[in-house]
Amino acid sequence: MTELAVRHGAINLGQGFPDVDGPPAMLEIARNAIAEGVNQYPPGSGMPVLREAVAADRAARYGLHHDPESEVLVTVGATEAISAAILGLVEPGEEVLLTEPYYDSYAASVALAGATRRTVPLTRSGNGFVLDVDALRAAVTDRTRMLVVNSPHNPTGTVYDREALTALAELACERDLLVLSDEVYEHLVFDGRTHIPLASLPGMAERTITVSSAAKTFNVTGWKIGWAMGPRELIDGVRAAKQFMTFVGGAPFQPAVAHALTHEQDWIASMRADLERKRTFLSHALSDAGLKVFDSAGTYFVCADLTPLGRTDAVAFCRELPGRIGVAAVPVSVFVDDTASWNHLVRFAFCKRDEVLTEAVARLNGLQ
Ligand code: PMP
Ligand code: GLN
Repeated sequence: MTELAVRHGAINLGQGFPDVDGPPAMLEIARNAIAEGVNQYPPGSGMPVLREAVAADRAARYGLHHDPESEVLVTVGATEAISAAILGLVEPGEEVLLTEPYYDSYAASVALAGATRRTVPLTRSGNGFVLDVDALRAAVTDRTRMLVVNSPHNPTGTVYDREALTALAELACERDLLVLSDEVYEHLVFDGRTHIPLASLPGMAERTITVSSAAKTFNVTGWKIGWAMGPRELIDGVRAAKQFMTFVGGAPFQPAVAHALTHEQDWIASMRADLERKRTFLSHALSDAGLKVFDSAGTYFVCADLTPLGRTDAVAFCRELPGRIGVAAVPVSVFVDDTASWNHLVRFAFCKRDEVLTEAVARLNGLQ
């Protein structure tokens, strides 16, 4: 879709990446790091300064404690943390449980590990989506090794509440599952919500690998600096896979992200407030353009149903949109196995400058 957007000069509300830079001091530190020769392999687990900053930030915000030496691993984006966790901790023939829609790299990583994915759909509730923990429970078998959880959720923007997370935690403990908790959008929660890390629930710290990333926290999706956190034995497994995937990455970016984690909480708060406003703006605009819009409580994304426009095939719709009105979006069916059930939904990214969103909205008004 990004390729189509480029070809048609369309506004890209498809791929989720912001169009403004992160905190200036962070960018300056990366520039200086290159100039000062921070250009060779960093340590295998990542630079101590970044591991310490990750651990300190997690302790300050959530009261969760990780030894920066052995329980924090710096990765090439959250993408590598996800793949390395699955490759390092799941054996061929075992099963991994995903909720659907799921971020696409989960399925690919499960396949690379020679494991089998089982998916359970989110269910509709009011104007949004909720987890069906009973359905997840029913999908667990003797071969299920890992449950992948993603809240705030890409693509729907759903944020699981404490009740849902508690039910998930109980299931994980009951069936002795490992949990991979993808919390890359941990800062991007709206309307006064606070992010609840899954590892903070009873019984979870010892079985959860949590993944996050500088990409979404500091608007640097191209830096590919992410991290995995969890108990030592699990992080050892993740590191064992990571070592032969990339070994290390992004040396000059690591001190910059460390600095930002320590000093840029105000920047994060203002970015979140901006995104919340953009979420509301685009949601209303899509509704005015005739789509049925779902509530987005977090992330970069809002989903909408095309049925009121007389359309039911989001793939065809998204393929024609860049050429027809100069806007790109992504069909939700690319994030699912059961494409028939999700084929009428489209995901739009709102992490764009106001003038870009305003122009996109003007174009979307040409839909009817
Ligand atoms: N998980 C989710 C849910 C995402 O949306 C993304 C980014 N699109 C990632 C992981 C990957 O993050 P990174 O860019 O740090 O590899
Ligand atoms: N996470 C972003 C998205 O879902 C982009 C990642 C990608 O393009 N692979 O749009």
